[in-house]
Amino acid sequence: MTIAGEPSFRESVDMMFRRATALMDLGPGLQEKIRVCNSTYTVRFGVRLRGKIETFVGYRSVHSEHMEPVKGGIRYSLGVNQDEVEALAALMTYKCALVETPFGGSKGGLCIDPRKWDEHELEQITRRFAYELIKRDLINPAQNVPAPDMGTGEREMAWIADQYARMNTTDINAKACVTGKPPHAGGIQGRVEATGRGVQFALREFFRHKEDAAKANLSGGLDGKRLVVQGLGNVGYHAAKFLSEEDGAKVIAIIERDGAVINDAGLDVEDVRQWMNSHGGLLAEYPRGTYMIDGAKALELDCDLLIPAAMEGVINLSNAARIKAPLIIEAANGPITFGADEILRAKGCVIIPDMYANAGGVTVSYFEWVKNLSHIRFGRMQRRAEEGRSRILVEELERLSNDQQLGWQLSPDFKEKFLQGSDELALVRSGLDDTMRTAYQSMREVWHARDEVQDLRVAAYIVSISRIAKTYQSKGL
Ligand code: NAD
Repeated sequence: MTIAGEPSFRESVDMMFRRATALMDLGPGLQEKIRVCNSTYTVRFGVRLRGKIETFVGYRSVHSEHMEPVKGGIRYSLGVNQDEVEALAALMTYKCALVETPFGGSKGGLCIDPRKWDEHELEQITRRFAYELIKRDLINPAQNVPAPDMGTGEREMAWIADQYARMNTTDINAKACVTGKPPHAGGIQGRVEATGRGVQFALREFFRHKEDAAKANLSGGLDGKRLVVQGLGNVGYHAAKFLSEEDGAKVIAIIERDGAVINDAGLDVEDVRQWMNSHGGLLAEYPRGTYMIDGAKALELDCDLLIPAAMEGVINLSNAARIKAPLIIEAANGPITFGADEILRAKGCVIIPDMYANAGGVTVSYFEWVKNLSHIRFGRMQRRAEEGRSRILVEELERLSNDQQLGWQLSPDFKEKFLQGSDELALVRSGLDDTMRTAYQSMREVWHARDEVQDLRVAAYIVSISRIAKTYQSKGL
């Protein structure tokens, strides 16, 4: 989406990059090498559908190959264009460096309204798009590994994996050519909700640092915080669901493409989602809230936390001054334009930037890729051994208590939890939590250490650009 009077998405990302590099000592050559997008492949292909040939336009952009494979989602939307995939590929490079997943950045997109086509047609289109990318190594376990993004999910990833396997019958690592697959097709537990879960972990870490929350004039934890979420798709739904069901946050408004529903007493996210599922994806007439047809207006509601989780550019020069939230977490990529970012910062709004906030997806994708390459589920070797060791300890403690007549007993709840070895989902969550905490701490260190670093976005860019620069320097570029 290009907004009148504003830089394009890619220009906006570049301008944010330059705000950070102005505070770094990189040398102009290296700086330029890191910033530019290495290549963008455009493909136009035909698929025979409903008796005629339909032509589709798709892209796969590779921003940086300082580490390979490169990684980044494939988006299905009518808004897809070269500028957008290049901006998203650049964000992937910075994101991967920030959360220390060993990938370069890439992104793909197909210019399509997926709601216009039935499942079989979408499969034909996806397989043909994948064929075009696979034959050019733009999908390959060692070189370029896509994942889901807006408009795509497990289903599309399974088709892509199968298409790759058909074209590479002897590649033992074929499953690692794409992540976000369903668990029965080589996926990993916890990938579907990973980005939303990452948003939750990011916010928990933010509120753990009282002085950071104080910068947004907030205190306490997430409990009781009033939040507005835009986009009840994969990312927005999971983030809002976990924050309300597990952390006590109150979802006072949900914004979707056909409007917003508002309820000051709090909305039941699951209930709203069920309603949308059974009403063609629409919010209108949802009975347990007030419907507002101009959904974007709800971004301006008085709340503690705003979660844009739909698309880029939604907070821009036209509405930034009216945004009241003191804290915004960018669950979507690029929801705040460069100009809006300046306005919000001047008002004292704290922004948790996209490259960190939505990195949960690529983090768990990394776990899935490792799982596919190692051909074994996480926890399969250790889980029962872990349980066995815990059992020895519990039995010994109980024996001591009996022998010495100490009269104490372990509570059944403790025993049950302690005796349970970690399965794949528990390990994925633990790895994701650790990643989100560590990355936040690396950002905040830079944020607090240097006066000229006034916000988390610049801090995030500094951390990731420094890491990418080190990789280039050690390669002797
Ligand atoms: P999705 O397609 O599952 O959901 C997007 C939702 O936003 C849909 O429900 C759609 O109806 C809604 N929407 C679209 N336009 C809207 C508008 N103008 N106003 C309000 N709602 C609107 O997509 P997703 O995977 O949840 O991705 C959302 C954002 O998160 C994108 O920016 C994407 O790049 C980013 N992201 C996704 C992942 C992931 O793992 N899926 C990872 C990182 C970042």
